Amino acid sequence: MVILRVNPMVGLFERADGPKQVIQPMPILFFKSKIWRGGLAALILFLAGGLAAAQNCATTIESDDALRFKPEKIEIPLACKTFTVTLKHTGRLPKLAMGHNWVLAKLSDLDGVSRTGMLAGAEHNYVDPKDARVLAHTSVVGGAESASVMFDVAKLVPGERYGFVCTFAGHSPVMRGVIVLK
Ligand code: ZN
Repeated sequence: MVILRVNPMVGLFERADGPKQVIQPMPILFFKSKIWRGGLAALILFLAGGLAAAQNCATTIESDDALRFKPEKIEIPLACKTFTVTLKHTGRLPKLAMGHNWVLAKLSDLDGVSRTGMLAGAEHNYVDPKDARVLAHTSVVGGAESASVMFDVAKLVPGERYGFVCTFAGHSPVMRGVIVLK
């Protein structure tokens, strides 16, 4: 006859006689099984992946041989510490003829930073280094080139309206977009 006694310390049933053998109730066997551990690991990865996707702190914006940004709207989560914008030129024209940059400023400052940028010229990537209204900017890229810029999201004040513009000579009236803080 098998005598079972309850070990109150671990809540397991043990055989009191014979070789040391532990008989575990089903729920404990389940929690110790590889299936459960594999499932738990997958669940954690899934949750972590969802969190990263919800706070995507980088984006790529395209431009080409026409005067446009694609997309013309960038969403920046305020939960991000930094945000990275990569500007990709998918066209073929060299940067001297069809260069583009990406310049971040308040919507109301876009015209001003475009003016000072044009005066600064190509050697300064069409951005006046002394213009404090410029919050972030990439260098100028030509066809098949790309450039990135990372900036602190804390620079952006909730409630303020921000936008971006290409300050390459003559592009600013049409090459611009808006920032949405969320
Ligand atoms: Zn441009």
